[in-house]
Order: sequence, then structure tokens, then C-alpha cells
Amino acid sequence: MKFDSKLLHAGYDPLEDPNLSISPPIHRTTAYQFKNTEHAANLFGLKEFGNIYSRLGNPTVAILENRLAALEGGAAALCLSSGTSAVMYSIINICKQGDNIVTSTQLYGGTYTMFSNILPDFGITAKKIDLTDLDLLESSIDSKTKAIFCETITNPGLVVADLESLSEIAHSKGIPLIVDATFTTPAIQKSFDFGADIVVHSLTKWMSGNGSVIAGAVVEKGGFEWGNGNFFLYDEPDTSYGGMRWGHDLGDLSQIAYTLRMRTVPLRNLGANMAPDTAWQVLQGMETLGLRMERHSQNALATAEYLSENKLVDWVRFPGLKEDSNYKLSEKYLQGTGGTMVVFGIKGGREAGQKFIDNLLMFKHVANVGDSRSLAIHPATTTHSQLDEDALREAGVSPELVRLSIGIEDIDDIKEDLEQALNKSK
Ligand SMILES: *Cc1c(COP(=O)(O)O)cnc(C)c1O
Repeated sequence: MKFDSKLLHAGYDPLEDPNLSISPPIHRTTAYQFKNTEHAANLFGLKEFGNIYSRLGNPTVAILENRLAALEGGAAALCLSSGTSAVMYSIINICKQGDNIVTSTQLYGGTYTMFSNILPDFGITAKKIDLTDLDLLESSIDSKTKAIFCETITNPGLVVADLESLSEIAHSKGIPLIVDATFTTPAIQKSFDFGADIVVHSLTKWMSGNGSVIAGAVVEKGGFEWGNGNFFLYDEPDTSYGGMRWGHDLGDLSQIAYTLRMRTVPLRNLGANMAPDTAWQVLQGMETLGLRMERHSQNALATAEYLSENKLVDWVRFPGLKEDSNYKLSEKYLQGTGGTMVVFGIKGGREAGQKFIDNLLMFKHVANVGDSRSLAIHPATTTHSQLDEDALREAGVSPELVRLSIGIEDIDDIKEDLEQALNKSK
């Protein structure tokens, strides 16, 4: 099946449901009855797959997991309660105390804080560098580095990641490239095709689309050699799981060693599982992902073109504009779109930026992106207000920057709202 059909059909066959339900059923249950003691022992010993307890897995959540794996072209997926827990689990599933990752200075706010303030308390550090400097990247990787982590399009800098170059460097060092693909979704970028090994999603954003849930997922491409000697957690017997050596003892299942470990170690014992109702809501929203991303990206291009011609606008950044510094990368990585986010600098700096935001009528002023509605925010005073001046500059946030997440409304209404708010910003 092609992508848009998979959105509706992958991972669920109504003929396998006892009630032949066309819409995926919601399994609101905590536990599952064992058929007998042998069945129970096989499930616990990973000899047989099946449901035990809904923290570890749930049939409704499994439909979403299988659909996500199909959409990304991966081998397995694991759903989590939020994009934030997905980022966290993607790291702690390979790093232990003393290990590090190399990542960008431009990161989603919550991820930035996790990497700067939370993980270091557990002995895991993140080296934040300019990931477009490939020599610096190469020299930043040491024997304790377990992954390169990046976002497909940074926020709000809108730098498009050069995944092929990043993955080449990662693989030459025997480590994976982990990609937060929230801003692209598989509808406009298949990160695995460009060398990514692990894809992380906040399903809260474009994937579900309605701005009605918090949800996340981690998808594994399959085939990375976790037993290559670089990963203590995959070489040494796991005392929390019967002495299992995740990189060596899985046989045919070694393809999905990372996902199996994530489910049976971090998810089982830390518990950021997704609720079945959430999985169902995400499945509902995702049915229209292809259509929505098409409209989002068309509207974003039209908005960027409109703003470029407005006299009250100082500058516009949108990777889909021919004159944009990231245009070449967007052509290669974003299927000819520029993504769905537009940032611009308003004439009159911080004060004009605030006036502009306060005068928007249809655009919603929220700390979110990827809703079907158009959204606007002034990062320097909100999402990125915790950063000092140097960190702000490194994160690509100037005081006059306004960030727009362009929705799927009629483009005439989008332009009209921007026009009237710009006129009142003077
Ligand atoms: C929103 C977001 C997250 C965090 O996801 P939540 O679902 O809000 O926890 C992580 N990365 C990116 C790029 C995001 O936009």
C-alpha cells in the first residue's frame, strides 16, 4: 500500500476483530487472562508474544504502533505517554551513567532542558554543538558517545537536518542516529531512507493534528547492530531481565532489540505508557495526515511569500523559499515542501512583536505547534525565556522573531489576520 492508504489500513484488519469493527476497538483493560501456567511462562520468557498487563502493551496501542512502523518503513514502534517521554526513553535505552550523546544547540525547549538539567543528574550528558559543522561533530564523538540526536527541522531556527551526512558519521563510529521527526512526520520525510536508525515523535502535534492529546512514540528501523561492543546495556547480562544480553541473545528478534528492550526495561519499570483512548484518538487524527500536511505546507509557502512582500516585515525564514539558506536541504529532505512552520522578524523588534501577537484574531496564541489551527508565539518571551542571551543566539532566537505554525484554514483568512495584526503592530 502507498502512504495515504496505510494511514487508514496499516496495522489493523477488521476481519481479525471478533466483532468485525471497522474502527479500531478501544481495549480498556488493565490485565489479560493467561490461558494456563505454560502460556504465562512463555509470555514472561519472551518465547511467545501476547498481552500481560497494559503498562507493557495494549491491543489498541499495538494497532497504532504497527501503523507507525508501517508509515515510517521501520521494523517496530513503541508508543509512550508523550513526545517528551519518547525522547527520554530513546536515550536511556542505550546510555548509562558516564555515557554521552552529541546533539544540536537548537532543540525543542523541553528536550533542551532534559539534556541540560535532568539527564546530567543521572550521569548522562549531552554535548550541544552546531550540527551543521560536520568536522566539529566528528571530533565531538568519543568512546562514551552512544548516539547523535537531532531534530528534522529545528524550532524556531528552521534548520533542516542533513540526515545523510549525520548518519554517515554516526555509522562510521558504530553509533545510531536518533531523529526527532515531529516537525516533518513521515508524510514529508522518511527519515529511515536518509540513514536514521531511530525516529522519535511527539504525536501531540501534526501526527494527531487536532490539538487534543499528548502522545509520543519511538520507531526503530531495524538492523542496527546493538551488539557491536559499543553498548554496555546490550553486551552485559541484564539482571532486571533474567540475564538477557539484548545485543546477543535474541536470535531472529535481534532486528528489533532496541524496541524489545525499551518495552521490557524502561517502559515496564518506569511506566510512561500510552492509554488506549489516546491511541484511538491519535489513530483517528492520523487518518487525514497526508491531506493535512499537503494543505499545511501549501498554506505555509503562501504565508512565507506573503510576509516576504510585506513592508512591516524585516525578514522571513521558510526553508521552502528559493532564497532561503535551507532551500537546497528542503528540496532534498522535505519532498519539495518547506515544512509547515514560518518564522519572521517584525520591524520594531520585541515591542512590535508583542503588539502583533496581541492583535491576532484567528491565529491562536499558544505554546504549541502542529495543530490544524494556525498558531503564533513570541519565543524570546515564552518558550525560550529560560535561556540566557548566548543560548538564545545559539538556539536561533532573536528578540524580534515571531513563530507561526500554519494551519489548514483558508489561506485568505490566514493572510487577512496577519495583515490586520501587522498593521496594528506599528
Ligand atoms: C512537542 C515536541 C516534543 C515534546 O512532545 P510532547 O508530546 O509535548 O511531550 C518533542 N520534540 C518536539 C520537536 C516537539 O515539537
